[in-house]
Amino acid sequence: MDLGIRGKTALVCAASKGLGRGCAFSLAREGVNLVITARGREVLEKTAQEIRSATNVRVTTVVGDITTDEGRRAALAACPAPDILVNNAGGPPTGDFRDWDRATWIKALDANMLTPIELIKATVDGMIARKFGRIVNITSTSVKAPIPALGLSNGARTGLTGFIAGLARQTAKHNVTINNLLPGSFLTDRTRQTIAGFAKAAGLTEDQAAAERLKTIPAGRLGDPAEFGEACAYLCSAQASYVTGQNFLIDGGAYPGTF
Ligand code: NAD
Repeated sequence: MDLGIRGKTALVCAASKGLGRGCAFSLAREGVNLVITARGREVLEKTAQEIRSATNVRVTTVVGDITTDEGRRAALAACPAPDILVNNAGGPPTGDFRDWDRATWIKALDANMLTPIELIKATVDGMIARKFGRIVNITSTSVKAPIPALGLSNGARTGLTGFIAGLARQTAKHNVTINNLLPGSFLTDRTRQTIAGFAKAAGLTEDQAAAERLKTIPAGRLGDPAEFGEACAYLCSAQASYVTGQNFLIDGGAYPGTF
């Protein structure tokens, strides 16, 4: 299926690795020109070069921390009028809420709630004026089924989800959709780190901890960031203009509910 977005421009945040990279690659394969961001130059440039060689689209890189004013300003200066915005940033640390002070909470809220809202605020009116916009926020299964050690994620991302639920209904009539993608366990650096952390805490080897994780996933495997990217590209397609305000789990069946 041709997704009808060839020649559009996407700002994909935190895209040098993992899920953001998967989204950038899938959009590029549909002919979307990219502005991609990350904190480290080396890996970002390598990813940009791989995307250019594989797809021939234009890829611009912006080095910076997207959770800061400065990082967002740099991203928006390179891409002031995106047709597609993929919001992403690193996830918060695990821990016990008794140890988190106000500054820790503000950092998590900045990264996983307020940064996407700021970027949407800066770009959505242009999308409305141009009568096309696709916004995808990478959140987590933690908004549907809280993860005990990830209280910062449970809280910050659910706040974002509530805000998006309201806004998405206001932009839909202008062909501007806003949806959230909820990853389960994908094979990325972040997952490798959480499995290593679990192994240490439970006194297991990393292989044993990974085997424990797989037992919770009906698909019997971790997800591939490339398949996450394909779902993102669909939500950004011309065909998906009637899909908005939704929360899509991509988790190999791990969430156990009927709905
Ligand atoms: P990852 O660590 O593999 O990759 C993160 C990418 O984001 C890297 O390119 C990194 O350079 C970039 N990045 C991180 N913080 C940034 C910042 N402040 N500014 C700019 N770039 C930044 O992570 P991932 O697994 O792809 O996860 C992406 C998001 O999805 C995270 O918020 C994570 O918590 C969430 N998530 C991931 C999974 C999973 O299974 N991988 C599951 C649930 C939620």
